[in-house]
Amino acid sequence: MTPIPVVLITGASRGLGRGIAIQAAAEGLSVAINYASNAAAAEDTVERCRRAAPHEAQRFVPVKADISSRDDRAAMIAQTLDAFGRIDALVNNAGIAPRVRADLTETSEASFEELLRVNLQGPFFLTQAVANHWLAKHHDAALPGGFKVIFVTSISADTASINRGEYCISKAGLAMTSQLWAVRLAAEGVQVLELRPGIMATDMTSGVKDKYDALIAEGLVPQRRWGSAEDVGRAVRAVLAGHFPFTTGDVIHLDGGFHIRRL
Ligand code: NAP
Repeated sequence: MTPIPVVLITGASRGLGRGIAIQAAAEGLSVAINYASNAAAAEDTVERCRRAAPHEAQRFVPVKADISSRDDRAAMIAQTLDAFGRIDALVNNAGIAPRVRADLTETSEASFEELLRVNLQGPFFLTQAVANHWLAKHHDAALPGGFKVIFVTSISADTASINRGEYCISKAGLAMTSQLWAVRLAAEGVQVLELRPGIMATDMTSGVKDKYDALIAEGLVPQRRWGSAEDVGRAVRAVLAGHFPFTTGDVIHLDGGFHIRRL
């Protein structure tokens, strides 16, 4: 019997990660739902995944871990393997905005370090650990087209915001991280993709809602709406389902056309 594939999704308690978890559940996967501190939100994601799941045998397990901590990352992988016995896909979604939006002339080293540890170093080394598990050939991939790694970056990877430069730098680095792992793992049966969301309605952007409402109404986003967690979830689902079989290292834009240069 083919095993139920398992996806580990970081930052799946809220926002885009929750949307990804629900769509993965709908696709028939079991899900390790990583979160940093909000256990109640992670339980809510578990419940929503159960409702979306087509099979009784799928399981949804919350896993608490700070992805910027090496020990937590190792414990998260061990817990996932304890719970499911396998990992077929990793979605590096968790990320943070700066605590304070500060002009480049006032960016603090503490904020710079925090953003790079969570948004860049964490996903790089988590991917390294999962890749090494796969390279040790403990099990075959249960997903069509092999194992998958997805990096959730941001339009900030190539859009300069001078009031949160450290965020842009972390996402630009993550975009290269995706290409690096794509090249390293392509011959090992691992597909790697970058999803690059635009302006998305989550807790992360709730503080700047009015500003972005106005910019979207003025046409900053050609499709003239906010993106949603479901938009990202559906794209991840397509990748997990094997609908991009001859693609690796690519960027999938999820931004309503924001990235198109216009005149
Ligand atoms: P969000 O609503 O703030 O949710 C963040 C999620 O990440 C939560 O599940 C949180 O867990 C988790 N998290 C935060 N720090 C963590 C850490 N150190 N270790 C493990 N988990 C951690 O954020 P979002 O808007 O969904 O963003 C998700 C990703 O998309 C991020 O990488 C973000 O940069 C990117 N993105 C967002 C937008 C946007 O407009 N919202 C646009 C482009 C890209 P707790 O619930 O436990 O706190």
